[in-house]
Amino acid sequence: MTSPHYPHLLAPLNLGFTQLRNRCIMGSMHTGLEDRFYNYPKLAAYFKERARGGVGLIVTGGISPNRRGWLLPFGGTMNSLVDIWNHRKVTEAVHEEGGKILMQILHSGRYGYQPFVVSASSKKSPISMFTPKALSESGIESTIKDYVRCARLAQKAGYDGIEIMGSEGYLLNQFLCVRTNQRQDRWGGSIENRMRLPVEIVRRVRAAVGANFIIMYRHSILDLVEGGNSWDEVITVAQALEVAGVTILNTGIGWHEARVPTIVTSVPRAAFASVAGRLKKAVNIPVVASNRINMPDQAEAIIAHGDADMVSMARPFLADPAFVLKAANGRADEINTCIACNQACLDHTFANKRASCLVNPRAAFETELKYVKTNKRQRIAVVGAGPAGLSAATVAAECGHDVTLFESSEKIGGQFNIAMQIPGKEEFAETMRYFKRRLEITGVKVKLGQRVSRDELLKQNFDHIILATGIAPRTPRIEGVEHAKVLSYIDVLLHKKAVGKRVAIIGAGGIGFDVAEYLLHDPSTSLPVSLAHWFAEWGVDPQAVQNGGLIAPVVATPFRQIYLLQRKTSKLGADLGKTSGWVHRATLQRNKVEMLAGVEYQRIDDKGLHISINGEARLLEVDNVILCAGQDPLTELMPDQQGENGPRFHKIGGAALASELDAKRAIREGAVLAASL
Ligand code: FAD
Ligand code: NAP
Ligand code: SF4
Repeated sequence: MTSPHYPHLLAPLNLGFTQLRNRCIMGSMHTGLEDRFYNYPKLAAYFKERARGGVGLIVTGGISPNRRGWLLPFGGTMNSLVDIWNHRKVTEAVHEEGGKILMQILHSGRYGYQPFVVSASSKKSPISMFTPKALSESGIESTIKDYVRCARLAQKAGYDGIEIMGSEGYLLNQFLCVRTNQRQDRWGGSIENRMRLPVEIVRRVRAAVGANFIIMYRHSILDLVEGGNSWDEVITVAQALEVAGVTILNTGIGWHEARVPTIVTSVPRAAFASVAGRLKKAVNIPVVASNRINMPDQAEAIIAHGDADMVSMARPFLADPAFVLKAANGRADEINTCIACNQACLDHTFANKRASCLVNPRAAFETELKYVKTNKRQRIAVVGAGPAGLSAATVAAECGHDVTLFESSEKIGGQFNIAMQIPGKEEFAETMRYFKRRLEITGVKVKLGQRVSRDELLKQNFDHIILATGIAPRTPRIEGVEHAKVLSYIDVLLHKKAVGKRVAIIGAGGIGFDVAEYLLHDPSTSLPVSLAHWFAEWGVDPQAVQNGGLIAPVVATPFRQIYLLQRKTSKLGADLGKTSGWVHRATLQRNKVEMLAGVEYQRIDDKGLHISINGEARLLEVDNVILCAGQDPLTELMPDQQGENGPRFHKIGGAALASELDAKRAIREGAVLAASL
């Protein structure tokens, strides 16, 4: 691929026996489609779209070499000739678009959520309920054979190579580290013994598949767990893997059980690229940087700076299959950027649901949610330019309808304009940039500063009126709620009203947690926080002198004294995302936020907030009480009944249902409705 834009990122990579069209890898993402044979046509359509979008190399979600390696019962497995027929649908679809694809071989070891799990030693992981059986010598030998058979079958299925998953705390990583490998035999003890299994697998796979087949190995370069490898050990393993026959060395950061976030929004972009850079200096094969790289600018800079030969982005290709083509054509401002929220991808995977994308609801639904050009152009009004309205307006216009979007405020975005004020949620601005550009491209007529009434809408002869008017924050009935010290989250986040040093937050949903993070932030520190600040806060040593790159985190000095309250007796934050909620809770705990459940609110007065817990009265002496008590829908424009002849009214997003609303639902509802008109 030649392009005047991003010359390093878009340069081809010659591997000797084959050439990759550019340096972009779509990293492995488990969608759930790979686990069932009847979903392979959908999986093929999903990968085909990404290959058409120009990515240099695709890696499938993890496929197990045997049943003991299953992540979930009956997970995707490649262990017999029958399996290759499904996979051929995928490889043929990718090759038709000029792409290349590797099948990832993933043995989950003790991370498997099934009773047959095995590992180096019999040590249960903190994130699984099953205790693994330590593999016997013969079990290790048969596991190696299973990897070899799996790789051979992948070759027969038409893959251009395989990726061997050796990071994130899966089986091979479990053998590599003393944290999980306490064996006394030739597979445990010294690093030479601990790396014997991955190195032997690579050596025997290479012997079986021949020289002209890509073997990429995902190597854990920063384990971020106690008992993880030192940098010297990381390099020893990498060099042995190179000798054993690896073509490309991909990198992984952090085990799944690590208590350091590695991919959520608050992790600075490209945080770990320099660690890949140190690895690159120690080996002679191409090295791949990964983690929190989501725009072509960073990807280009990483390669230009010499930190890596390729860049792996997984979630960014869920968000935008045409990422590479847009970059190559100088249209990076049209990229639908992954905001690292995990809400529709990893959180779905952990809930055993099909992965998709918050900002792109078509991801993994390519054959089900289609934006087809209409042959009956209709006049459509969309009221409200929050995520739901923006999604509906742009999809309807893309399908060929004549769309007018009314927004009462002076800018598009709705609540996203508030969300992006939260430290660590700066990425939300990218979604607004994307939609702003999409409105221009699709030709939506945007009417800002127009709070339309139903009569005004009815006068304009629309065929459809889509109400995406969102929500109104709820004011709970508490004595004294009108006191001057009471503020809403909108007062704080949007109108920037002054807030004292002692604060009680009523409501511990997503917004309560976000407001707490916002108020903990010292405004004299600019956002986003620097990489050095973030490493110190989370106790990361990128030099990985010892212990998998962990050091003692700096002790936080809380900027405010904060109480976060809810009436329920359950753990605070229990409903936050599975893969991001713990990060929010850890941040608040480190900053000594007092989290109180089972609260009854008594009254608010000059002294503060009076509450009781289990019948025991308590006064929280605070300067401000901030309401984050949920929301009610704004539906004043909805008629009681649909007229026989007039326009059809529809409600989406918060306007349809305020409870459990999030941007994932809002954007999806907008797209699904618009595609159906
Ligand atoms: P809104 O975003 O509320 O948009 C409605 C729009 O309609 C507004 O722009 C409003 O001005 C306009 N409008 C209303 N009435 C009229 C009228 N009569 N005429 C014209 N225009 C009108 N969600 C997530 O998924 N993940 C998160 O991490 C997340 N973080 C958040 C953090 C904060 C601090 C906040 C406040 C919200 C967060 N959300 C998050 C929630 C998310 O922003 C909402 O779920 C989403 O914005 C709802 O979209 P919507 O389009 O339905 O409504
Ligand atoms: P929410 O999650 O429904 O939480 C509302 C909170 O207010 C709850 O803690 C609730 O707890 C409390 N509450 C409700 N009614 C109350 C009343 N009458 N009096 C006192 N307290 C009351 O809503 P939200 O925090 O406003 O968030 C809105 C949506 O945005 C959510 O659906 C969320 O998914 C989304 N969001 C997501 C994220 C994210 O990071 N993924 C971040 C922000 C927002 P009790 O009833 O127990 O008191
Ligand atoms: Fe990225 Fe969020 Fe989409 Fe996942 S759901 S791909 S994190 S934008």
